[in-house]
Amino acid sequence: MSAAGQGVKVGVARETAPGERRVAMTPETCRKLVAAGAEVRIEAGAGAGAAMTDEAYRQAGALVVADAASALNGADVVLCVQPPAATALNDLREGTVLIGLLAPQADADRGAAITARKLVAFPLERLPRTTRAQAMDVLSSQAGMAGYKAVLVAAQLAPRFFPMLTTAAGTIRPSKVLIVGAGVAGLQAIATARRLGAQVEGFDVRPETREQIESLGGRFLDLGVSAAGEGGYARQLSDDERAEQQRRLGEHLKGVDVVVCTAAVPGRPAPKIISAAMVAGMKPGSVIVDLAAETGGNCELTQPGETVDRAGVVVSGPLNLASSGAVHASEMYARNVFNFASLLLKDGQLQFDWGDELLARTVWPERATG
Ligand code: NAD
Repeated sequence: MSAAGQGVKVGVARETAPGERRVAMTPETCRKLVAAGAEVRIEAGAGAGAAMTDEAYRQAGALVVADAASALNGADVVLCVQPPAATALNDLREGTVLIGLLAPQADADRGAAITARKLVAFPLERLPRTTRAQAMDVLSSQAGMAGYKAVLVAAQLAPRFFPMLTTAAGTIRPSKVLIVGAGVAGLQAIATARRLGAQVEGFDVRPETREQIESLGGRFLDLGVSAAGEGGYARQLSDDERAEQQRRLGEHLKGVDVVVCTAAVPGRPAPKIISAAMVAGMKPGSVIVDLAAETGGNCELTQPGETVDRAGVVVSGPLNLASSGAVHASEMYARNVFNFASLLLKDGQLQFDWGDELLARTVWPERATG
């Protein structure tokens, strides 16, 4: 808790994960935090990967400091995209609030540091996806950018135009693009591939996606399997359902030029949907971009972070695509984070209303309910 009479101290350091260009606070959200009574410190260069200058932060009311320690140590609230290293967490003041994509269970040292320092950690990936939480939903905002970029990566790798073209050298047929999984990333991928002029199909195991795919100008690919689960997410498929989905998909892929995979089941490795045999059946020159690479990939041949050629079929497994659109991804992420932090900032002070399910269900470790 901040000392009486002083504003809540908010700290932001440069992201340290390799290749991470996003920043958790933009000059815009910095200004809002200052207006809400916060005292903001940011490490010099923290916004550089997202084209946000130190000067812009200064003008927004932040104190720009030379290193991470000066930004974070003594802070009441630390904002981040990816989790700080466990060593940095160990240096935080006891009870510091930490907000970001923290994945506390993915790294034992990180989880231990959060518990040992008694940090009040809010891993935003745990946020319940209710209507009220939409303005704070970093998974959705970042998936939108990732889905968009995935199609651009595919268009870049494909040895074809996406649109139909009538030229003096003859007519070019439009590329056939299949988007696997029509959640937030998949729907943005469908919209993007349509804008590029491709013939787009999408499929998902949740039947309600048919209407969403069609409303974006795509065709719903019906593989005869429906697996709507709890809370708007997919459930795992049974063996029989999977076999039928696989058989029909394998046949269909023979005529597809580009596949963008986005299918996921929360808390589990990505479902394996495209087998090595299916890839072998695809035409040379086809491209697969597997956005699910971070959780193992939807395609059996995906190597996370690599682009490989499998007998003429290019299989790419890009990681952290949202970071490649760092300006807009950061703008959205930072607004999400600001909206979440606003639940805690009352009259310039930190207050925890544990009766608010958005706080209670997001905090880690879970708090015992009285
Ligand atoms: P996700 O990233 O967990 O999964 C992506 C998609 O993959 C989902 O549509 C899922 O059905 C699909 N999928 C899973 N297994 C599959 C398989 N074997 N074959 C084909 N597709 C498969 O999901 P997401 O994009 O984060 O969100 C999923 C849903 O939650 C969407 O309907 C979204 O609109 C909804 N949502 C609601 C809110 C809200 O505020 N109410 C917020 C965010 C998302």
